[in-house]
Amino acid sequence: MSARIETAVGLDVGRIREDFPALRQTVHGHPLVYLDNAATSQKPRAVLDAIMRFYERDCANVHRGVHQLSERSTAAYEGARETVRQFLNAAAPAEIVYTRGATESINLVAQTYGRANLRAGDEIVVSGLEHHSNIVPWQMLAAEKGAILRVAPIDDRGEIVPEEYRKMLGPRTRIVALAQVSNALGTINPVREMIAQAHAAGAVALIDGAQAAPHMPVDVQDLDCDFYAFSGHKAFGPTGIGVLFGKASLLDAMPPWQGGGDMIRSVTFEKTTFNDPPYKFEAGTPHIAGAIGLGAAIDYVTTIGLDRVAAWEHELLVYGTEALERVPGLRLIGTARRKAAVLSFVLEGVHPHDIATILDGQGIAIRAGHHCAQPIMERFGLTATSRASLAFYNTYREIDALVEGLGKVREIFE
Ligand code: PMP
Repeated sequence: MSARIETAVGLDVGRIREDFPALRQTVHGHPLVYLDNAATSQKPRAVLDAIMRFYERDCANVHRGVHQLSERSTAAYEGARETVRQFLNAAAPAEIVYTRGATESINLVAQTYGRANLRAGDEIVVSGLEHHSNIVPWQMLAAEKGAILRVAPIDDRGEIVPEEYRKMLGPRTRIVALAQVSNALGTINPVREMIAQAHAAGAVALIDGAQAAPHMPVDVQDLDCDFYAFSGHKAFGPTGIGVLFGKASLLDAMPPWQGGGDMIRSVTFEKTTFNDPPYKFEAGTPHIAGAIGLGAAIDYVTTIGLDRVAAWEHELLVYGTEALERVPGLRLIGTARRKAAVLSFVLEGVHPHDIATILDGQGIAIRAGHHCAQPIMERFGLTATSRASLAFYNTYREIDALVEGLGKVREIFE
């Protein structure tokens, strides 16, 4: 495919790829074709430089020192929080809590808001396509509280059945927790309407944005979600850093989770008073370099523009869907009408792990397995799929390579 086509939505993908050192390597003698972005994304030079700069020049603990280095590291750490606030269009930086990732963000809500507000017989609603990290924390909470986990069913396309979801909401619903985008199928859920419906039932709504925030514009005020979780490493930032957005009124009222330094106002053996959000939820020395790297990643991706990212990834999705549909014996799993650039599939007579292994031999990185979403695999009568998941630095040529690679897989198994 020509470079001209790869700038169709105003993105010079060839130029962008130069910003990602990891994309330049060969694997097993072939140029790397990295199609495992739903698991984690590659990092642009700007992120690596920001982390290096912190460790080379500004390394000091935050919020504690009056010395120059501490002032610099605090400014960079809090500056990144403001960057995240703008990225999500949150109303205030105090609504942005740093966590280890989406998983920890969801656990934080379950263990603080959930523990404080749920009683026996209360209900938590999730959907059938959730990642384990948006299932297990709620199961643990339900077991502790005697609450009930209800699961909105998924149709054959991989969409949540809207009327079934609506029926599930009732006077006992306290929390609704939904993925904005499914990591296993790519389904984009209509979360804005689903949040409004949750609110009408008197519940709070948490959105798992792990697969959404890196790929489309997100506005938490427009969505009107109560909590929003995402991970830095899937958004071109470092591992070990993530975000929980929470509405100020909810974070204010929530009890803290972990105890330690920074989350307190004063401590005596008789009584401890807690700091304000977000610090109330950030006990101990945080992942300072991670937050700074995340800020740099967000700066990078917002310079490109999330609208253009979404448009380009959609072009790739359409191209990839058509190409994969032409592969004999291949069945796409997840054919929702609104989809992110995730292509999950099975190939007749070949185990997904064998597909991934053979493709790896050609330098093509995809994921095979249950994608930490066993219930949705089971819904489709499967234990695993192969999954190619795309990012804005992917190209038509890489999809062609995937299709050629699958041709070789078929030859081996014929
Ligand atoms: N939710 C979804 C939809 C995901 O895809 C993932 C990661 N695969 C997570 C949550 C968990 O993210 P992390 O492992 O970074 O905490």
